[in-house]
Order: sequence, then structure tokens, then C-alpha cells
Amino acid sequence: MKRITSNVWQLHSAHGCNVYAVEAGDKKLAVIDCGLRISERVITEINEIQIENSLREVGYILVTHKHRDHIGGLSSLRKYFPEAKIVAGEADCFFDTDNQSWINDNPVSIVVSGEMGSITELTPNIKGLALPGHTMGSLAFICEKSGVTFTGDAVISHVNTLARPLKFLNADDTLYLESLKTLASLATDIGAPGHGFIVDHSFAERISDLAEQPRQKMNPSEAYRIIKGLIAFIRLRRRKNV
Ligand SMILES: [Zn+2]
Repeated sequence: MKRITSNVWQLHSAHGCNVYAVEAGDKKLAVIDCGLRISERVITEINEIQIENSLREVGYILVTHKHRDHIGGLSSLRKYFPEAKIVAGEADCFFDTDNQSWINDNPVSIVVSGEMGSITELTPNIKGLALPGHTMGSLAFICEKSGVTFTGDAVISHVNTLARPLKFLNADDTLYLESLKTLASLATDIGAPGHGFIVDHSFAERISDLAEQPRQKMNPSEAYRIIKGLIAFIRLRRRKNV
């Protein structure tokens, strides 16, 4: 694993999206997102973090949003850590007739309100920030103690640039663009996106710059190229059975 700050780590063996471990407070660990699936190696990395840092059990599994590349491994992660509380955005949850909330067949212990910009204290070290738009229940998680903001897919981080998810991948792009401005006003100095690279400084300023840029109209040949790439990616994933 890679240590980002004294109490935040990125798991190397995750598949599908970036998966992070954070000291949530009271010596408990929180895991942020799960990726497409959970391998033994992911569990080993989590155990190593616990042992090397004298931390207790995984107390929380924090879900940034319901897309499969972020929660495909949720059921199996929960099997390893059955006591962990699953945290998810209200609009990404399904509610049964007993008003129990579920995400991907897993019971949600802490449901975070979907109103844009609302902040919920989840653990002594971590706050949830509602950012509807990419999915309607999308959340960012902010750890002020370490100065790290976990954005899910609110921001995609390439080598030297930040980017937004493509318009057609957002449930409500207008709401998403508003959420991005909200995130810029509340983000910490270090950014931990759901895909791509860690931003190790000036994260809020860079999101602010990104939020100011107008959406470019996509020309048909670019749209064709992107869709073709996505289909090839999905086929490759299926072939590898991940
Ligand atoms: Zn997504």
C-alpha cells in the first residue's frame, strides 16, 4: 500500500477504482470504496495497515456512489468485516417496506442526506459531503485531520490535469456542475479521487479552476471514439472475468 499521510493509505491491489483506508478515529479503520472485486491481497493490505499502525477493526465502509466499479466488491468486503457500518448517500440506496436501506444487496447503517452541500459527521475524523449529480446519492468524504478529500467520481485525476466525468455518464449534469463548485469551496489541500492520481497540494484551487471551465460540445467523431473505447474496456473486463 502507499501511505498518503500519517493516517491515510491507498491500496495497491484494488481493481476498478482507487480504494483508500483511513484512520476513522477511536483507532478504527474506514475503507473508502471497494472496486470491482475484493482479492485476498486487498485484505492482506488492510491487515498490514492495522498491524503496522496499531489500529483496531475496520469499523466503516464508506461508499462514494453506487456505480459498479466502486461497489462491485462490497458484498465480499462485508464478509471479511461483518461488523463494519456501511455508509452511503440516501439517493443511491434502495429502501424496503420496513424502511431498511440497501446498496447492492448490503444493508446501509448510516444513510447520508442527499441535499447538495450538506455535511454529516460520520466518524470522529471523517465528514460526508453530499454532491448529487454524478449519481443522485454521490458523496465526498473529508478527513480534516489529514487534510485529504476523497471525491469518488466528482473529479477524475490525470497525470497533470483534473477532469470531469463525461456529461452522459452523469445522472444530472447540471446538478453535478453545481456540486463541483460546492466541492471547490469545501475541499482540503490534498485530493484522493476515485480514479487516477493523488493530488498532493492545491486541490481546492484546482477544482475551482475546473469548475469555471465551460463544458465543451463533443463532436460526433469524438463521441464515437469514446463509446468505442468504453465498449472495448467492458469486453476486456468480461474476458478477464473481473
Ligand atoms: Zn461513477
